[in-house]
Amino acid sequence: MATNGGFTGKMLYVDLSTRKIEARETGTEEELRMWVGCSGLGLHLLASMIRPGMEFLEPDSPMILINGPLTGTAVPQSSNWAIVNLRQQAGYHPGFSFGHGFFGARLKHAGWDGIVVVGASPSPVYLWIDDSKVEIQDASKYWGTDTFACNRKLREDLGDPQRISVACIGPGGEELLAGGVVRADLAYSAGTAAPGTLWGSKKLKAIAVRGTGLVPLAHPGEFLAVANEWRNTQWNHKVTPEMKAMHTVQHDPRYAKHRNPAGQSQPVKNMSEYLERGGAQPEEGEWKFRPVGSFNCEMACHFETNIPSGPFAGLYATGYSPSVIGSMHGIYDRGIAMGLTTHLDELGLHESEVPSAMSMVMEAYNTERLTQEQCNGLDLSWGNWQSTLQLLDMTLHREGIGAIIAKGIKATAEELGLQDLAVHIKGSGFHGQYQINHPAMLFASVVAGGGPRWEVSNRLFLTEGEPDLGYEAPLNPDDPTYGEVAAKAVYEGQKKKTWEDDLGVCYFAMQGYTGIFDLETRSLMAATGWTGFTRDEAMMAGERFINLQRMVSLYLGYKPEFDYDVSQRLMDAIPTGPGKGRSLKKYFDMWRDEYYQLLGWSTKTGAPSRAALRRVGLQNYMVGK
Ligand code: SF4
Repeated sequence: MATNGGFTGKMLYVDLSTRKIEARETGTEEELRMWVGCSGLGLHLLASMIRPGMEFLEPDSPMILINGPLTGTAVPQSSNWAIVNLRQQAGYHPGFSFGHGFFGARLKHAGWDGIVVVGASPSPVYLWIDDSKVEIQDASKYWGTDTFACNRKLREDLGDPQRISVACIGPGGEELLAGGVVRADLAYSAGTAAPGTLWGSKKLKAIAVRGTGLVPLAHPGEFLAVANEWRNTQWNHKVTPEMKAMHTVQHDPRYAKHRNPAGQSQPVKNMSEYLERGGAQPEEGEWKFRPVGSFNCEMACHFETNIPSGPFAGLYATGYSPSVIGSMHGIYDRGIAMGLTTHLDELGLHESEVPSAMSMVMEAYNTERLTQEQCNGLDLSWGNWQSTLQLLDMTLHREGIGAIIAKGIKATAEELGLQDLAVHIKGSGFHGQYQINHPAMLFASVVAGGGPRWEVSNRLFLTEGEPDLGYEAPLNPDDPTYGEVAAKAVYEGQKKKTWEDDLGVCYFAMQGYTGIFDLETRSLMAATGWTGFTRDEAMMAGERFINLQRMVSLYLGYKPEFDYDVSQRLMDAIPTGPGKGRSLKKYFDMWRDEYYQLLGWSTKTGAPSRAALRRVGLQNYMVGK
């Protein structure tokens, strides 16, 4: 046992080709302290398993599902788990997808820090983890079912639906569509880096887990006292009720217009147009919605919503909010947008690939770049939700133009000659609803070492700032000093966020609170028994992670020019609305140079200097098998 607590000390290794199951030590004490957990430890494991030329969908491509040291404990919102794998798009980046709900906590309570799956089964299977008992079971009867049906049926069949968590893929992942997600506990997707497509290639339909134990803690009394302090800090702070109210407002159709806050221009229709205020309109009818919490979560930002009227009347939508398949397809009816989003969740698809490719095709149709005949007779006029549904179905079955869209936005743009209409970062769809108004936030997504994703706290840009980093208010894109301060803020914010992503705690429990570093590090020490873990060590863990991401990227073929592989629409100035004139292009070169210099990386090659690697303790680190 590497530590006295926080970790269970055991990882599950499953080879689906040989059907071998074994338990291995999670890591040495030194490894755990360097990489902490979730995305950090997962990246370290991935770095040791890859080899040159390894493809995302080849059988050896690893799937690492991993908890943090605080997952499943008494600290608030300790529900986070991560999936780490190669990326499907921007394949030179490692990929990270985060999930919430109860799945990670139950896995930890079953005695496992995580699961590594390699190989591929010839027929559909699921993993059944019942505390220490682990079995590979036949999943033929669940193959083809949607993520909701599979979740419910599997839990019922296993005979203890209230205490079992299921993470599973839908038909989208099974059919190897681009951007397949893993859905857990009905409401939660882990999907940024297409883990569902990877599961589909391994014929892994689901993982079911029941855990009846507790997370071991080195100093339980001290840990509970810090957890309590954390909860009080959170709920005594004005940020928390505001954040909770914001989540409710986001889901309450009567306030739908507030989804687009003042001072922001909202891109719609594949970012070919902007609305000054709010794409979704308040709807008639009696809307019923209730919050759906995660493990140990009082914030409860995910909702179950009953759609009261329209073509999807009676449907229960479960999740965060309508996705790109609404306003980016010119669909502003909230009930219809939620119905379509729920269908995407059933299929287990992320908005960044298939829906983004569809909105690009719709723009091509609406600007007469594609004919109705080329679209297999579909009328793809903006807002035609029936055609959106049909196109999704054709994509799932790889029929007509759907066979192209199934490959994702980059391949679709190339095959149809629509590169100028592809809204993407490094070949991944990126609708940038919030980021487009904050060039620094967009910049953070471009330089994110895990490919386009949120690697920096949103609060630095949107609402409260990050007081523990010295930002008492969010950066203001209209402030004359914005250009000078933003690159440093992204660098500091990325270190903090990536450290926090290691812990196994939801970011809504960590953003914007004064003294949060102290609570995080004291919790970690009380859980693990480590001593002297300071704020500086936490920030160093973040910087080490950022460097390893870059080392893995270089190993996988990253080139500096890829930093500029960004849709022109994301670079150009916003043409209209409150955010008019804000543009990433204006700052990009200056910010990139400064960001690289802060990290000690070459602006020419993108590689970390020896001094940079020495600073984070990676001077002797070897990536690859
Ligand atoms: S705030 Fe939302 S994402 Fe975070 S733990 Fe709670 S329900 Fe999950």
